[in-house]
Amino acid sequence: MARIVLKFGGTSVADLDRIKNVARHVKREVDAGHEVAVVVSAMSGKTNELVGWVQGAPKVVGANSPFYDAREYDAVVASGEQVTSGLLAITLQAMDINARSWQGWQIPIRTDNAHGAARILEIDGSDIIKRMGEGQVAVISGFQGLGPDNRIATLGRGGSDTSAVAIAAAVKADRCDIYTDVDGVYTTDPRIVPQARRLKKIAFEEMLEMASLGAKVLQVRSVELAMVHKVRTFVRSSFEDPDAPGMGDFLNPPGTLICDEDEIVEQEVVTGIAYAKDEAQISLRRLADRPGVSAAIFGPLAESHINVDMIVQNISEDGSKTDMTFTVPSGDVDKAIKVLGENKEKIGYDVVQNESGLVKVSVIGIGMRSHAGVAATAFKALADKGINIKAITTSEIKISILIDGPYAELAVRTLHSCYGLDKN
Ligand code: ASP
Ligand code: MG
Repeated sequence: MARIVLKFGGTSVADLDRIKNVARHVKREVDAGHEVAVVVSAMSGKTNELVGWVQGAPKVVGANSPFYDAREYDAVVASGEQVTSGLLAITLQAMDINARSWQGWQIPIRTDNAHGAARILEIDGSDIIKRMGEGQVAVISGFQGLGPDNRIATLGRGGSDTSAVAIAAAVKADRCDIYTDVDGVYTTDPRIVPQARRLKKIAFEEMLEMASLGAKVLQVRSVELAMVHKVRTFVRSSFEDPDAPGMGDFLNPPGTLICDEDEIVEQEVVTGIAYAKDEAQISLRRLADRPGVSAAIFGPLAESHINVDMIVQNISEDGSKTDMTFTVPSGDVDKAIKVLGENKEKIGYDVVQNESGLVKVSVIGIGMRSHAGVAATAFKALADKGINIKAITTSEIKISILIDGPYAELAVRTLHSCYGLDKN
C-alpha cells in the first residue's frame, strides 16, 4: 500500500464523460489499497474564459494604464478549479467511493502575496493525511492557495502541476502521478522526430532543462519543487483505458518517472534534445573593453525585465575594443534595442546589430559530466549537414547551440540520431 497524489489537467477533465474516466483512474488506485489525493485543473478552456472576463470588465484608469485589482482577478480565475473538484467528488461518490472536495483555503495552502503569480510557502497536510487514513479520497482544487491577506491567491498559469507536487511533498506521498494528454516525456518532440522514444526515467535536473526549453509537459516551477523535495513525479496519459493491463502496476506503470539521478541505473550520456524557437541575437560592436562594461549592458536590460540567455564576449585584439553578443526572446528585441540606445553613452559602443528568427537547440544529459567529446560529436554532425553555428554555451549537463530558424528541424533530427536516441 502506498500514498499517491494524482493530478489531472484541463483536457483530462474537459467534460462530464472525461471526469467519469478520471474517476475510474482514481477508483483503480483506491481498489488497489492506496491512500489517494487528487489535484484537478479547471475544465479545458475555462481559465482562459475567466481571464477574458476579467480583461473585459470595466477598469479603473490609473496614471499609466488601466488597472484592475489582482486579488479580484484571483477570486474570479480560481473558480474554475472549484467547479472541477466538486464535480469529481460527486462522480466518485456515485461510484461508491468516499470522497470530498477541498479548496486551497480549506487545507490551507499558504502562499505569498504575489496575487496572480503566487508562490506556495507552506501546506498543512495534517487534515488530509488523517482523512486519507480513514479511507477518504481528497479531491483538491489546483492552482490556488490562501495569501497572507487571507484572500485567494493563484499560482500562475499551469500552476496546478505545482499544487500537485507541493501537496505530494506535504503529505509525504510515495509518488505524484501527473495525468495529462501526452503519455510521457520523450527524447525530443515526437512531432519533429517520429523516432523519438518515451523515456522510462529522467533525472530532475534534466527535466528542468527540458521543461524550461519548451517541452511543455510540466510547469517549470513544479519540476523545481519536485527536485528540492525529491518528489518522485510520474507523467502518464489520462486517455488510456483506466483498466487496461498494466495501468495499475504500481512499480512499472506506463509513462515517465522524473526522479533522483541515483535511481537511474542505466544512465545514457545524452537523455534528450530540446529546442526553443523565436530567439534573437543582439551584437554590440566595438565596445570599450574595460571593467564594468557588462554591468552597464545587462543591468539596464534586467531592470526592464528582458530575459538575456546566451552571452558571448570576444577577446579584443588590441585590448581596447571588443564585441559582445547575446540572445533574447524575439519579442523583446525592440525593447532591448531601445534600452541599449538610451544607455549608449554609459556603455560606450559603436553600433548595435540584431537578427531574429533564430533557434536554440540543446543537448541534455547528466551523463555528460563524466564523458568527454559530447560537444565535438554535435559539432561534427551539424557540420556534416552544412548547419552553421552562431553561438554556443555549455553547462555541466547541457550544450546549447544557436542556429538559423529554417534549420531547426534538421538540427534536432541530426542531433537526436547522432547520440543514438532514435528508436529502432
Ligand atoms: N487552470 C489553470 C490554467 O489554465 C491552472 C492549470 O491548469 O494548471 O492555467
Ligand atoms: Mg498544464
